[in-house]
This record gives sequence, C-alpha cells and structure tokens, in this order.
Amino acid sequence: DELISQIAAGEVVERPASVVRELVDNALDAGATEVTVRLMEGGVRLISVEDNGHGIPADQLALALRRHATSKIRDLHDLQSVLTMGFRGEALAATASVSELSLISQTATQPHAWRLEARTGEIAPAARERGTTIEVRELFFSTPARRQFLKTPVTELAHCQEAIKRHALVRPDVSFALWHDGKLLLDWRATPAQTLPGLDLALPTRRWADALGRRFIEQGVPLQAERGPVRMQGWLIRPEHAGARADTQYLYINQRFVRDRTLAHAVKSAYADVLHGQRQPAWLLHLELDPQRVDVNIHPSKVEVRLRESQALHQALWHAITPVLAGLKP
Ligand code: ADP
Ligand code: MG
Repeated sequence: DELISQIAAGEVVERPASVVRELVDNALDAGATEVTVRLMEGGVRLISVEDNGHGIPADQLALALRRHATSKIRDLHDLQSVLTMGFRGEALAATASVSELSLISQTATQPHAWRLEARTGEIAPAARERGTTIEVRELFFSTPARRQFLKTPVTELAHCQEAIKRHALVRPDVSFALWHDGKLLLDWRATPAQTLPGLDLALPTRRWADALGRRFIEQGVPLQAERGPVRMQGWLIRPEHAGARADTQYLYINQRFVRDRTLAHAVKSAYADVLHGQRQPAWLLHLELDPQRVDVNIHPSKVEVRLRESQALHQALWHAITPVLAGLKP
C-alpha cells in the first residue's frame, strides 16, 4: 500500500506547489476564512498550512490519511456534481508517503487539540484553536529521484505563490497569508466585493488588485453576463497591458481553477475579432455552471476538466465577451 501511495503521489504531488494547492483546497473545503501558509526553502524543507476551519475530530485523524478516504463524497451521485475542491481522498495519503507529515486539529467541541504523526501513527494532545494545521517536512526525502527534479527554492516558492494566488482570486472572502523563511510575503485580507462606480455590479476588485496588481484593474473592464447555462463574471484587460502574459489568464469553473482549451480559445478569438491585437491579453473569468455539466474527475490534479456541450459554452463566452471588449477600443 505504501508503494501504491507513492505511485499515486507521482500524479498528485509533483512539487511543493502541488502540496500547497491540495492543502489550501482542504482548508477551504473545511470552511476556513483564514489560511496561513508557511514555507521553508521554497517548501522543500517545510510546508505548513494552518486554517480556522471546522477541524478533524480525533477519531478521524488517522482516517484522513488513508487512501481514498474522503469525508466529502458519499456516493456516485455526489461524484457527478462535485462542489468541494477535494473528493478523491488521495492528497493527504499521497503526500504522507513522500514526506514527514503531521496533522494538528481541533474541532469546536473537543476539550483540546490532537496531533498525529503520519509516519509513526503516534497521536498526542496538542494546543490550538479550532481548525487544522498540516505540516509537511522534507518533501521527497524518500524518493531522491523526484527530489532531484525540484528547481531552486526561488522557483519552487514562485510556484507556491502562484498556487495561493489562484485560490485567492476566487475567494476574496478568505484571508490568505504566506510566510517564507520567516518573512511575510503575502498578506491579503478578506474583502467584500466593491460596487463599481456607474455600474450595477459588485466585483472583488480589491482582492484582484492585491493579487494581480493595481494596473490590472486600472486597465481593464468588468464583465458580467448570463447566457444560457452559464453565468460569467470577470475582468478583461487591454492586450498591451504591461503585465499581460499568457499566465495572467485565469479561468475558473464553479470556483475551481481550470485549464480548458476550448474556453481559452473563445476568449482569444473574441480579443482577436474585436481588438485585432497580436499580444497576449490578460483576463480573469469565473464561470458558474450546473455542476452536472462539468466532469472534474478526469485527472488527479483536477486542473483539467471535461465539459458537456463545450461548443455551446464557447459560443456563450464569445458572445458575452465581444461587446465588452468593444468598450476597450482606444
Ligand atoms: P479529499 O480532499 O479529496 O477528501 P484529502 O486526502 O485531501 O482528500 O483529505 C482527506 C480528508 O481529510 C478530507 O476528506 C477531510 O475529511 C480531511 N481533511 C483534510 N484536511 C482538512 C482540513 N484542513 N480541515 C478539515 N478536514 C480536513
Ligand atoms: Mg483534498
């Protein structure tokens, strides 16, 4: 089973940033409103994610580490309409198989918190407020071949920051902090949506500016539309925006960061058709769809999804975006 977990880890845990993503997913699934990430050496020495979510009861700590143990899905019906970030029950097991992992958790009702060491199974009383801290030390210490593929701490740190940013952009109601080697690098407080002047529209532009820079907001226009099966919200930037790169393109479906060629193509062609620019535009788009139309269970990383009727979505997107882009014309 150890071997199977390590094989699974190859798919789920590629680098520190994949661990950060999974642990923050779990914190958000637990209803956290504050998430603090602490890293040492780009996450290779230590990744710690602390949340103020509902916690894990002592008698379920060990279960949380078991492969395919998830508290989030009960049956096949749930799997067809996944709303939580996690559902495969493999992230913790996989991570624990390639690191020194510990869980410290407190619920609303226990007299005190408990700490579980994954390697030894040792469980002991601990002190902390309601919520969970998961510490991952010495990632890939037992799989040197994989550790060898890690880049410099600076590069791994950048990937971790990106992972947090992807969560933060879509959860302005949650505060995120990132510490690296004892220094506070990101400190994004929860912020309500801002009503935009002259528009009957509230968008979390403060969080977007925190995460992507003030110019991202200054040089863009809001998008809000509903077309057939899809509700959209977002921000579209002029292609000549200085920071615009292919990686400043953020697509979310039902609050999940995803990559989808068809939908990215719809945005790209809308830009090309309206603005005729050559440069990569920057954009942020949140789509809300009936979860039954999105299959998120096609890849362990959950970044790839399968969309039902993706051509209809392509059209909906193109039709919603083109009139907004017309307003960006110089
Ligand atoms: P999944 O998220 O797919 O269910 P994971 O391996 O990521 O699988 O987590 C296993 C289980 O551990 C979760 O289903 C959840 O019950 C519990 N868990 C993990 N992290 C947390 C957390 N931060 N707060 C509360 N429960 C958690
Ligand atoms: Mg999970």
